[in-house]
Amino acid sequence: MAVTVGVFGAAGRMGATVCRAVADDPDLELVAAVDPGAAGQPLRDVAGVDVAVEVAGRAEHLDATPDVMIDFTHLEAARHNLDWCAEHGVHAVVGTTGFTDEDLDRFRSTFTRSNCLIAPNFAIGAILMMRFAELAAPWFDTAEVIELHHDAKVDAPSGTAMRTTERMAAASADWAPDPTTTHTVEGARGGAGPAGIRVHAVRMRGMVAHQEVLLGTTGQTLSIRHDSYDRSSFMPGVVLAAKRVADHPGVTVGLDAYLDL
Ligand code: NAP
Repeated sequence: MAVTVGVFGAAGRMGATVCRAVADDPDLELVAAVDPGAAGQPLRDVAGVDVAVEVAGRAEHLDATPDVMIDFTHLEAARHNLDWCAEHGVHAVVGTTGFTDEDLDRFRSTFTRSNCLIAPNFAIGAILMMRFAELAAPWFDTAEVIELHHDAKVDAPSGTAMRTTERMAAASADWAPDPTTTHTVEGARGGAGPAGIRVHAVRMRGMVAHQEVLLGTTGQTLSIRHDSYDRSSFMPGVVLAAKRVADHPGVTVGLDAYLDL
């Protein structure tokens, strides 16, 4: 039996791509879509998928209750949508970014009848990049993280860059001090992340989402790089999550747990 799926933010950049990925997967069935800006329209017109689903303006207006709802919206909207999922016993797969620790604590108490995955990055290559950086950290003396994104990104550094440095700092606290004593240009050495690991954010027209972790020790360096060239890079992770969320009780943060890393 196919897992039935609905998409919050179905008219958005990510949501429409998710609708197409779900519709294309034989083990998933796209049965619902929510997006206030496209309410009442056929999903076919909104996301270009060949399914007979009308977009609802709010979760409360859905006729069908899917097994899984996937959320790529905005922070405030996602908070509301997750409350609805918890209340209705619907599993949630969430790509929306920006949740606070308080949000996560609340979801841990509300998701009692269904499960929730919150993944700041669904690109499986990016998950592996973070894991490799964490494994490498204890073997190197210096490390810097360079994240590169499109020129419409308003926050810096990226959540993935912060998560990478947090994990590297947890794996090793033993980093060489920064030798810089004078700065001719303010910010030239980037920002000091966890354990003082420097993080640099590049904003570049033409790019999507990229990150390079540089590690160095005596006579050698290691570069670990991941590139997302378009939104399709997130889809294998989203589809995998929709299929596995029922098997992971409670609230899970990060796709790692679903990849058995
Ligand atoms: P977007 O194009 O602005 O799409 C968001 C959509 O959600 C819009 O169509 C918006 O409608 C709609 N929306 C607003 N309130 C809603 C509600 N209550 N219920 C349902 N839909 C609602 O944004 P995007 O680029 O797709 O990004 C969405 C989120 O995904 C962001 O938080 C982004 O950081 C995140 N993201 C995560 C990953 C990952 O791998 N985890 C990857 C890429 C992006 P209106 O425009 O009318 O408000």
